[in-house]
Amino acid sequence: MRLKNKVAFITGSASGIGKAIAERFASEGAKVVIADLDANKANDVAKELLDKKYEAMAVGMDVTNEEQVGLGVAKVISAYGGIDILVSNAGTQFISPLEDLPFHEWKKLLAIHLDGAFLTTRACLKNMYERGKGGSIIYMGSVHSKEASMLKAPYVTAKHGLIGLCEVVAKEGAQHNVRANVICPGFVRTPLVEKQIPQQAKTLGISEEDVVKKVMLKETVDGEFTTTADVADIALLFASFESNALTGQSLIVSHGWHMQ
Ligand code: NAD
Repeated sequence: MRLKNKVAFITGSASGIGKAIAERFASEGAKVVIADLDANKANDVAKELLDKKYEAMAVGMDVTNEEQVGLGVAKVISAYGGIDILVSNAGTQFISPLEDLPFHEWKKLLAIHLDGAFLTTRACLKNMYERGKGGSIIYMGSVHSKEASMLKAPYVTAKHGLIGLCEVVAKEGAQHNVRANVICPGFVRTPLVEKQIPQQAKTLGISEEDVVKKVMLKETVDGEFTTTADVADIALLFASFESNALTGQSLIVSHGWHMQ
């Protein structure tokens, strides 16, 4: 049990990568908070975990809404006594060439990824500092935190931005034993990716099969998708690492798509 009695607040955990992290953390003894815009799905995931005799609660909230983030974090502190781990994972994608990209879509995507990371970080950091027990903050970056792809300007911009936020949190948090790190996955077959396969096929004028083979997985060493379990393994490493030796880092898990 590597996270016994730790409280983990995981945004966007009603689906995909966040859900896999919640399941993995719960199986390691953590009390997990399923914080998601989709309150019904968050409740369903929390119930699934409770049925397995894990500890879990759901919080319906929009990470871009300052008041909702404040209320959600307060609810968790009142139920579980504090927060040890934040996984800032909620995210969306928008596919468009830059010249056609609507301004409101640019702002919406940056808000979910960057405002969401800032608001949840600020709320959790205050509690971590007050309790004096340290903590771990994990951002869901992407290979797109390191390099660009066509049609994804706001996503690439936001994911690069998370590296900057993480490094500031690592520096400011160190004296409180709060660490911050970024996970940078390659393509993982979640609803977020399923949705963009037909969109990319249409925009690029190629088949969906070619989007997978020639766009998404082309640069990997083996033509394989990264899995939610792979990402959960890295999240567990960052969440359970006890010292400031591992802070301010970004770790790529992408079947070799991006090497550094
Ligand atoms: P997903 O669509 O399966 O899950 C995203 C979750 O975020 C959903 O449950 C959604 O309801 C929630 N969400 C969206 N907007 C929200 C908001 N404003 N407030 C609260 N919750 C909100 O997607 P996923 O693939 O699991 O993505 C999770 C994270 O991983 C994202 O940050 C994404 O950018 C990142 N990522 C995904 C991949 C991939 O290939 N799937 C690769 C690299 C990084």
